[in-house]
Amino acid sequence: MEYDERLALFRQTHLNPFDRGEEEDHLEGGKTPPQYEAKPELFSGPKTHNSDRTMDLGLAEDHFSRPVGSFVASDIEQLKQAIGECKKLILELPEHSERQKDTVVKLIHLRLKLQELKDPEEDEPNLRVILEHRFSKEKSKSVKQTCDKCSAIIWGLIQTWYTCTGCYYRCHSKCMNLITKPCVRSKVSHQSEYELSICPEIGLDRQDYRCAECRTPISLRGVPTEARQCDYTGQYYCSTCHWNDTAIVPARVIHNWEFEPRKVCRSSLRYLALMMSRPVLKLKEINPLLFNFVEELVEIKKLRQDILLMKPYFLTCKEAMEARLLLQLQDRQHFVENDDMYSLQDLIDISSGRLSCSLTEIHTIFAKHIKLDCERCQAKGFVCELCKEGDILFPFDSHTSVCQDCSAVFHRDCYYDNSTTCPRCARMTERKQDDEPYEKGAEHQK
Ligand SMILES: [Zn+2]
Ligand SMILES: [Zn+2]
Ligand SMILES: [Zn+2]
Ligand SMILES: [Zn+2]
Ligand SMILES: [Zn+2]
Ligand SMILES: [Zn+2]
Repeated sequence: MEYDERLALFRQTHLNPFDRGEEEDHLEGGKTPPQYEAKPELFSGPKTHNSDRTMDLGLAEDHFSRPVGSFVASDIEQLKQAIGECKKLILELPEHSERQKDTVVKLIHLRLKLQELKDPEEDEPNLRVILEHRFSKEKSKSVKQTCDKCSAIIWGLIQTWYTCTGCYYRCHSKCMNLITKPCVRSKVSHQSEYELSICPEIGLDRQDYRCAECRTPISLRGVPTEARQCDYTGQYYCSTCHWNDTAIVPARVIHNWEFEPRKVCRSSLRYLALMMSRPVLKLKEINPLLFNFVEELVEIKKLRQDILLMKPYFLTCKEAMEARLLLQLQDRQHFVENDDMYSLQDLIDISSGRLSCSLTEIHTIFAKHIKLDCERCQAKGFVCELCKEGDILFPFDSHTSVCQDCSAVFHRDCYYDNSTTCPRCARMTERKQDDEPYEKGAEHQK
């Protein structure tokens, strides 16, 4: 039977509007709280059903299928009144009769409609997960934002809206079920590599004259919708998916050291924003020539190498740990881990001179601790074994060379005069050969 099928489907989705009522306990008593986000197609879809069963309450489905925004208070009043009439009718009709069952279904529809119109504040969940977006309900009522789905304004005062905590996609509550684009946050974690070809256009014809994201027909003549190119993906988009936002495009930075913001589509904008501080660019592999042309890069590379040489001092120095010296670099954690990965933000800050300033400052603080302030760190300096003269040397001093194998430090001149061979390593090899059969690894304890 049609009604029973519908009721079964209805129960499957744990959707029971009677749970919310005060006096309807004698009807269906469900245990699961209503989850309106799981609204079944059956009840929210376009008027495909029930038109023949519509009771003469003047509440045909079409009547209430206008967009939510166009409803006024009188609609809500009218609905409430109809619900009241419906409830009364259910009690009056013979128990288990077809008409009573029909009226129950009608009541369900009406309550769902009312649900859509009423102040959603207490009704909508705080968190909704759709296509890997984690949407969190927004509290602010005063801010006027634009919906990333429908491009219309979000009226915080009267409309419920959500922001994805992962990618900052903003959306009307009513638009959420229409979202087709998965969260770019997941793209950032699964596919954390930039497109590094400059504006890799495939042509509007290869796109079938459709928006690369939502498949809306587009053309360069603006008929029916203007085609807008995203400089990051090279593809064309409709004006709903591309708002002429601008962003610095990594491919242009890497290949041309060009920082002029270019027009990008909405999802590229979000993706680029999320990727901004991620150290995913291995410059010396992608474009080693850059180091020949950009002086600042050479300077930064040297500073980073020095910092990596200073790091072992801090890791073994209680004072440095207590002073949290390495935390100076907490915004650029990768600077403490390697010297060749860059984030787009690093490159932007290098071109503006900001990074050189702050990194030089940090370098000075670090060196001051090791060479001047801290006795413990000072004691870990080196005397040049080749000339056995001069000041205590540190591997990050500019006039020194460091043995790649044993990390001993020499005056650069002494090291090159000695044809870059390390006396310490030579000594160790010698001793190792002598002791080999008996004392394996004795040198390590020294
Ligand atoms: Zn919207
Ligand atoms: Zn998201
Ligand atoms: Zn589109
Ligand atoms: Zn120290
Ligand atoms: Zn020397
Ligand atoms: Zn050595």
